[in-house]
Amino acid sequence: MPASMRIIRRCPLSLNGLVLAVHIAGACIALMAIMPLREVARLVSTLGLRWAWRGLILLTLCCLGLLLSDAVASLHKVMDGWDAAASCVHILGPSFVLGVATLSRRTAQDMLRIRALEEAAFIDPLTGLANRRRFDERLTDEVRRARAIGLPLSLLVLDIDHFKRVNDIHGHAAGDLVLKQVATLVAAKSRHSDTACRVGGEEFVVIVPGLEGAFAAASAERLRRAVAETGVPLEGGGEIRTTVSLGLATLRPGETADLLFRRADAALYGAKRGGRDRVSLAA
Ligand code: GH3
Ligand code: MG
Ligand code: MG
Repeated sequence: MPASMRIIRRCPLSLNGLVLAVHIAGACIALMAIMPLREVARLVSTLGLRWAWRGLILLTLCCLGLLLSDAVASLHKVMDGWDAAASCVHILGPSFVLGVATLSRRTAQDMLRIRALEEAAFIDPLTGLANRRRFDERLTDEVRRARAIGLPLSLLVLDIDHFKRVNDIHGHAAGDLVLKQVATLVAAKSRHSDTACRVGGEEFVVIVPGLEGAFAAASAERLRRAVAETGVPLEGGGEIRTTVSLGLATLRPGETADLLFRRADAALYGAKRGGRDRVSLAA
């Protein structure tokens, strides 16, 4: 009589019980893998990847079903030691899936966290517009691109008029509301290809690729009018009316990003000196 049969003779129930326990443990581990797999499918951004992870969930559920039906079938089989040893694969397989799913969830969460941090580094928290860091980067890129493809590039610098008074009269919180309102109008009046940024306290810029001189000035004038015509409602009734001054410069051949910004800034101060609430073109 082979050794395995002797084992069955001695302890048939405990072997079947062991194999059954292994199957059930494997099924539980496969079930535990579903949660992280679902989380990864939710976190991935592309549709194709999402369906791939959903496919993996379906496969894991199929394995789960097979494990359970195999567990039932194992009750009626005569088991030997080899069967018991081979049944370990029913734990190792689901454990591998659980490990991969858990690590993938962790990786997806880390990547989202890194992306959020990267975005926060370039976004102004009060207005949601791009910040000074993004502006410096984008302006250098846009100047390089405009030179390479020979298209015009304009830069608009905008400063809220007498903003200190708004804070002094209505308080800092109301001042913040005005900043948000102006930011909303700057974003609303910008085209898809423009980059609107808040570069200082009450100073904004718009990088305007593809437009020069009169066309960019017309767009700046529309923005100036929109700010002048839109009041910021106050909680206790009434509203705050503000105006903005704008300086506009169009890239000259061979000009650097820094020089373009300085000319637009000089034009802004020209608008301030000229009486505010106006658009001034750079010399
Ligand atoms: P001008 O027309 O010459 O630009 O005058 P101004 O009063 O707008 O300019 P000034 O530079 O004197 O004042 C800017 C004010 O903006 C001072 C500062 O307290 C305020 N400020 C800067 N950042 C913020 C902010 O995040 N929130 C609020 N509420 N105020 C801010
Ligand atoms: Mg100001
Ligand atoms: Mg200012």
